[in-house]
Order: sequence, then C-alpha cells, then structure tokens
Amino acid sequence: MTLPQPEATAHTAAVPGRAGLLRRLLRSPVAVTCLVLLALISLAGLFAPLLTGQDPAHTSLTDSLAPMSGKHPLGGDGVGRDVLARLLYGTRTSLLGALLAVAVALVIGVPAGLVAGYYRKWFDAVSSWLANLLMAVPAIIVLLVVMSAVGQNTYIAMAVFGVLMSPGVFRLIRASVISVREELYVDAARVSGLADPRIIRRHILPVVQAPTIIQAAQMLGLGIVIQSGLEFLGLGSADQASWGSMLNDAFANIYTKPVLMVWPGVALAVTVAAFGLLGNALRDALDGSAVKARRPRGAAARKRVAEKKAPSVTPETAGAEDALLVLEGLKVSYPTAEGEKTVVDGVSLTVRRGEVLGLVGESGSGKSQTAFAVLGLLPREARVSSGRLVFDGKELAGLGRAELNRYRGRRIAYVPQEPMSNLDPSFRIGSQLVEPVRRHLGLSAAEAKAKTLGLLERVGIADPERVFNSYPHQISGGMAQRVLIAGAVSCEPDLLIADEPTTALDVTVQAEVLDLIRSLQRERNMGVILVTHDFGVVADICDRVTVMQTGAVVESAPVRQLFAEPRHPYTRMLLSSTLEDAEPRPALGPAVPASVATSMNTARQEGPA
Ligand code: ADP
Ligand code: MG
Repeated sequence: MTLPQPEATAHTAAVPGRAGLLRRLLRSPVAVTCLVLLALISLAGLFAPLLTGQDPAHTSLTDSLAPMSGKHPLGGDGVGRDVLARLLYGTRTSLLGALLAVAVALVIGVPAGLVAGYYRKWFDAVSSWLANLLMAVPAIIVLLVVMSAVGQNTYIAMAVFGVLMSPGVFRLIRASVISVREELYVDAARVSGLADPRIIRRHILPVVQAPTIIQAAQMLGLGIVIQSGLEFLGLGSADQASWGSMLNDAFANIYTKPVLMVWPGVALAVTVAAFGLLGNALRDALDGSAVKARRPRGAAARKRVAEKKAPSVTPETAGAEDALLVLEGLKVSYPTAEGEKTVVDGVSLTVRRGEVLGLVGESGSGKSQTAFAVLGLLPREARVSSGRLVFDGKELAGLGRAELNRYRGRRIAYVPQEPMSNLDPSFRIGSQLVEPVRRHLGLSAAEAKAKTLGLLERVGIADPERVFNSYPHQISGGMAQRVLIAGAVSCEPDLLIADEPTTALDVTVQAEVLDLIRSLQRERNMGVILVTHDFGVVADICDRVTVMQTGAVVESAPVRQLFAEPRHPYTRMLLSSTLEDAEPRPALGPAVPASVATSMNTARQEGPA
C-alpha cells in the first residue's frame, strides 16, 4: 500500500481568491458532477433515519437473502438485515471514518510542516526524521495490530491511519513553505519588522492552502478504501453498518446472491472516484491550467499563425532590400484569469545588415517580449497571434522549434540581461562555450577550444586559459557578460539580439561592454538589436531607434533624426527625462553633436535613466 506522496513540485503559484476559485471550479463539469454526487451521498448518510424505517443491525432469519420487496427495497443480506438501511447507515461510517483520518493527518502534518519549513533548525531535523520513519512503516500491518489490540473499533483505526498519513502532509507543507520563505517578499516582510505569526498568516498560509486542499480530497478517498478494506477483512465493529462489512457479507453469499456485491461496490467506487476527480479539478482550478488546456497548441496553433500572416508587402519591407530582419504586426498575448492580456500589440521593425537598431521604451513596454518572439523563446503559454517574421528572406513565423533551432544560436544570437543566471553553475565556462561551437560549426574539440580561447581574448579577457577552466561563480559579473558575448558571436551570427546587456553591470564596466559590442558588430558586419531603456546607450552606439510604449511602436527613426526632432510626445518625454540632470545644451542641429552623446553618458552615470 502506498500513502499519498507530496507532489514533486509544491504548488507555490499565487492562489486565486476564494470566490475566483469557486467560480473556476463550477465551470468544470467534472467538478460540478463530483460535488453534486458527494453532496447527495452525504445527505443520504445524514438523513438515513428518514430514508428508511429499518434498523441496519436488526437480524431476522426469515428475511435471510430476501428478494427486493416493499419491506426491503434492496432485499435482505445473509443474516436477514435490510440492505438499503445498511447502505445508508454505512455511508455515515465511511465518511466519518475518512474525515477523522484526514483531520488527524492535517492536525499533525500542517503545523509540523509549517514550523519545520519556516524555522528549520533542530525541529526540522527531528520531525523530518520522524516523518521518514513513519513512512517506512507498513501501514496495513500497523492497522491490523491496532485493530486486534483495541477491540475492533473503526474510528480508532482511522485515527491511527491519520497519523500514518500525516508524514505526506508534513512533507508537502514543509516543501511549500521552504520554497516560499526564500522569496524576496518574505524577506522584505521580515526586514520590515513583521512578527512571524503575521508573516505566516499573510504570506505563507495562502501558498500552502492550495496543495493542502488537493491533498485532503485525495486522502478522503484513500481513507474510505482502507477503512472498507479493514472491514471487509472482518476487523470493523460488528454492530456498525459499513460498506466494507456489507462486502464481507456479500462475499460469503456470492454464489447464492451475487447482486449483494453491487450496492456497496457501487457506493465505494462512486465516492472514491468523486473524491479523486474533485482533487484533480481543484488542482486545475488553483493552477489555472484549465485555461491553458483550452488553448490550441502545436501544429494547430502554428497553422493558425501561418494562416493569419499578412501576405502583403508594406512600405517598410519594400524599401529595405538589404533588410536582415523584417518583423511586421507582431502580437503577443497571454491567457489570464481575466481574459486575454496583450503585451505586444502590432509591433513592426526592420534591421538591416551591419546596422544597430535600438529598441527603447520604459520598463514593461514589451521590448523583451518582442526580442523573445524573434528568438522563438516565448514561454509556451504565450500566444503569438499574428505577425510576419522574415529573417534573411525566409519566413520564420510558422516554423517549429526544431527548424527554429537551425537559426537560433547559429545565425541569430542572444546576449541576455543577467549574465550570471545564464551560465550553468555546474559546468566549467570552457565546456559551455565549446559545445555550441562544435555543434554548429562542426569543429573538432581542439579546434573549438582554440577558437574559444581566441574569442575570450578578443572580448578583452586578460587570462583566457584561466577563465576557460573556471566555474561561473569564480568570475565577476562583467567578465561573465564578456563570456556570454564571446559565446554569442562564436558561431558568427548575422543578427545579435542584446537585451539590456549592461543593466546588471557596474557603471564602469557598462561602457566597456558596449564598446565591445559595437566593435564586434563593425568587425563582423552584424545586424544588432540592442534593447535598452537608456537613451545614452542609444546615442552611443545605435544607428536607428524604434521607440515602444505599452506594447506598441510609437516612433522609428535614424538616431540623429530622433534626437534632433522627436515627433512623438512619448519620445520627447523619454528624451527630456534622460537629459534632466545634464548640462543645458545648445539647440540641436540636424546631426547629433559629439557633446550630446557625452552629456548623455554623463546623465547615465549620474542617475538612473
Ligand atoms: P520590457 O520592455 O521591460 O522588456 P517585457 O517585454 O519584459 O517588458 O514585458 C512586457 C509586458 O509583458 C509586461 O507587462 C509583463 O508583465 C508582461 N509579461 C511578460 N511575460 C509574461 C507572461 N509570461 N505572462 C503574462 N504577462 C507577461
Ligand atoms: Mg526587458
């Protein structure tokens, strides 16, 4: 027998409000059916005395194996007890026993899990050891011993079973608490002086409530099965009607009256299945995964995207024969509980060969989402609802992941915002750089290593051999970004997408890294999309600028023109906020004078953009 185990990943997703949860639950036909069935079964148990006039324990030899009749609607059992009455009263025993077991498991498991997960230290060590010990004990043997020792009382057995199930609850709660207590907002609550009970109530309990409810529903079903199993073996109290003892009696008369098996069997199967399915429906409602499941995926979704893409040639495309990348009418949205949320709304942009395009906009304007769409790196739930994406004359919009991989890394490379989190801590830097080079360029191990060392030197790393043999934690953030830039250009890409490549770096290192990107770009005649919120960076190294606001492009222009005469009010606002702290400057001419770039550098270094 296996006890319910905690899920491999604790549900730490934000928990919807109670009203929202109920609404989502009621939208699922399975959940509604289960709830109705369980309500009916509970009512039948509750109102058993009203539904039948018979005493479930009254035996009468004349009614032994009686057929269905007015007096006994479902007939009589082997010793002449009324089957309907036993079925109805048996509901009470089954549900109460299971509830008792679950209550005991929760009363022990939840507080112990909370304390162990939140405070750790010795309590965690001791309680985890106890939990492991309990889980190693064969539950059914313990129950058999308990039953024979305490005089066959079902409820005592179920309470003991609750104790045996409590390690499952304990582990689940502990894992959920540990994962959430590392979150920054819990740290923040602690730093702001909130007392522990309050933090647990406000931040921890809402997270553990979801997995607890799901687990409880599944344990209820399990409790009923175990209890009936014990009673079937003849271990329940003899004077108490129960489904398990009904099965026992039916089994004794299986050749003379097999129909006796049906009633308790159906009752058990329906109740246990209803609890199990209700647990699943609860999980879906809490995850919101029901919303995801309805979304068409894979081939169907790609087909729809392909159908929707506009075949027409727009002026943007027409004028740009040397265009390396043409993106038109890109739309990215996410299904949420409140409906579709559009984060990129009809973005079009063009990158020519050997050109640096600045993608500018305040935080949250959809720059990264646009970049990820080009790279094919959007999360699964993202819906790329329309858009034309032509790279070097080839339409990428309808391609699958495998085909996209031929472009990604090889011809379109990516430099991320946070260098450290993009290096795997458990591998040496050298092996992380060599692998893609070997794969994409088909070089031998020695050739790839020589090429990588050369690249590390090229990106300004003084001791390439040492860095090559280091683990990521052994180098600084600035160096890690150089490593990633080396990795990005290692396969000689045509297009480099750098998403805020300097935001996580020190100010002094920022300028060097930007210089590096610019010089590599010139050297290799790459197209570059430089995502940034910093007009100083734009003035430094970009040729053209596309300005985004809340998911849409508001203005696209060559960088000199944009600085000289920004057309859109949002661009003007961004520009003036960037230049706020800078020295007053003379009116701009048609070109950006060197002094502007310098003053913008100053602004960048003095204060946040
Ligand atoms: P930025 O311009 O700062 O790079 P992003 O492109 O990262 O902005 O994000 C644009 C918007 O998309 C933000 O409002 C963000 O909340 C939203 N967003 C990003 N990822 C998701 C996601 N997986 N689900 C829902 N919304 C998302
Ligand atoms: Mg971003």
